[in-house]
Amino acid sequence: MGYKFLRLASTSFRNGNVPIGIRHYSSAHDADLVVIGSGPGGYVAAIKAAQMGLKTISVEKDPTLGGTCLNVGCIPSKALLHNSHLYHMAKHDFKHRGIEVGNISFNFEAMMKYKENAVKALTGGIGMLFNKNKVKLVRGHGSIVAPNKVEVKGEKGVETINTKNIIIATGSVVTPFPGVTFDEKQIVSSTGALSLPKMPKKMLVIGAGVIGLELGSVYQRLGADVTAIEFLENIGGVGIDGEVSKTLHKIMSKQGMKFKLGTKVMGIKKDGSTVKVDVEAAKGGNKETLDCDVVLISIGRRPFVEGLGLDKVGIALDDRGRVPVNNKFQTTVPGIYAIGDVIHGPMLAHKAEDEGIVCVEGIKGMPVHFNYDAIPSVIYTSPEVGWVGKTEEDLKKEGKAYKVGKFPFLANSRAKTNGEPDGFVKVLADKATDVILGTHIIGPGGGELINEAVLAQEYGAAAEDVARVCHAHPTCAEALREANMAAYIGKPINF
Ligand SMILES: Cc1cc2nc3c(=O)[nH]c(=O)nc-3n(C[C@H](O)[C@H](O)[C@H](O)COP(=O)(O)OP(=O)(O)OC[C@H]3O[C@@H](n4cnc5c(N)ncnc54)[C@H](O)[C@@H]3O)c2cc1C
Repeated sequence: MGYKFLRLASTSFRNGNVPIGIRHYSSAHDADLVVIGSGPGGYVAAIKAAQMGLKTISVEKDPTLGGTCLNVGCIPSKALLHNSHLYHMAKHDFKHRGIEVGNISFNFEAMMKYKENAVKALTGGIGMLFNKNKVKLVRGHGSIVAPNKVEVKGEKGVETINTKNIIIATGSVVTPFPGVTFDEKQIVSSTGALSLPKMPKKMLVIGAGVIGLELGSVYQRLGADVTAIEFLENIGGVGIDGEVSKTLHKIMSKQGMKFKLGTKVMGIKKDGSTVKVDVEAAKGGNKETLDCDVVLISIGRRPFVEGLGLDKVGIALDDRGRVPVNNKFQTTVPGIYAIGDVIHGPMLAHKAEDEGIVCVEGIKGMPVHFNYDAIPSVIYTSPEVGWVGKTEEDLKKEGKAYKVGKFPFLANSRAKTNGEPDGFVKVLADKATDVILGTHIIGPGGGELINEAVLAQEYGAAAEDVARVCHAHPTCAEALREANMAAYIGKPINF
């Protein structure tokens, strides 16, 4: 059956200002692929599949496309991070650079509006890409009723799609704190923290992982008194190198964020306009009650498979609630695949996107290759943190012989000139072969610089390879080259 665009006058769904071709499947219809979920995993998979000639249908239950990343994740958080950083610079940093701007203040509502516009533009952009690539969109909650059949419950009732293949890309949701309900005003998840109705004076952040540090620093830069409470003795979440974590802790403390490490939260309750949080030393002992006007609970995310019908087709979840897949992203049921936050691996948008692409290539019979050792992680604090590959702690645990090449941004001409000398680049390379095993950056533009390290790692480069590549001067990327030089030959030039 052909797929023609049908613009229904009754279409009430918003997708920015872009009209989406929506077809109502009142009888049996065929597709080569149905992708359930339009987050970065799902929408990229759907576009790739359509580009490769598969008749593709994307199913999305939310009013806007783009999933967590575009609506309540990467994009709105980066809009607030960027603008709060500019405000902080203007207020506290411009003067000594010779820039005088008078009284600096911010308009909280306008800042939120800017963020909403950024989200709207990008979610609408996916609709345009779907139209351009002829991906059909069916709005509603998708469930798998048989290995080759998806039912979608939408505003217009139930539609049935017969399909050769299904990709589950249903993502993740916030992990709740036991016994606590998010009101998204005083007790908030990351979603609420991205849309607070007013600027908090005092904020507690439970969990000093990536999301807690990023959103905590937004409000700290805007003037709130922010304390992050963390069960572990270090900040930055899973996978961060110990030395980088310590440096980040030091820098963020200097910036004014407070930390209570090795501390567990025992209870959270509202008392009028105040929220009271009972905490206790993780090892037992000291107890205290902390007050705030907003508490952000950012203790992680969990896979989302509600109402997906996995039990109907016999797909059992693993012990962490994830959909188990093999290295071709195939579930235990032939023709059903899964990608993104709903499966194993780090919950990151770019990981979901890349899985979407190779999963589709696999469906088309191409080889499936995915290198989990070359997925970058970034914390968009100031300075930014970026890393890829093994940490020193990993290598010690594995008993691997390695060498370290380090270069401080203090000795990088661009960082020094820009007045951003905090941090360093650390390269870990195999002691015998010089092959790069991991790169860890804390410093200006760390989230951009890490991509060069990812490229090197993906291609199996040795530290010498990067050290011998000509880098533009003056750039912060030269610090990456010098760290590779230090790893390869023991000595950088400029330090
Ligand atoms: C505050 C925050 C900041 C973040 N920042 C970053 C960052 O800077 N960089 C980064 O890489 N990652 C970041 N992430 C993580 C990133 O957002 C996720 O890893 C990514 O969105 C996962 O993509 P996904 O496609 O697997 O799932 P999701 O983006 O969660 O999308 C799943 C989609 O499926 C839909 N869906 C679910 N079930 C059904 C169903 N049965 N029927 C129809 N539709 C369904 C959902 O409505 C949703 O639209 C952040 C997350 C948060 C919360």
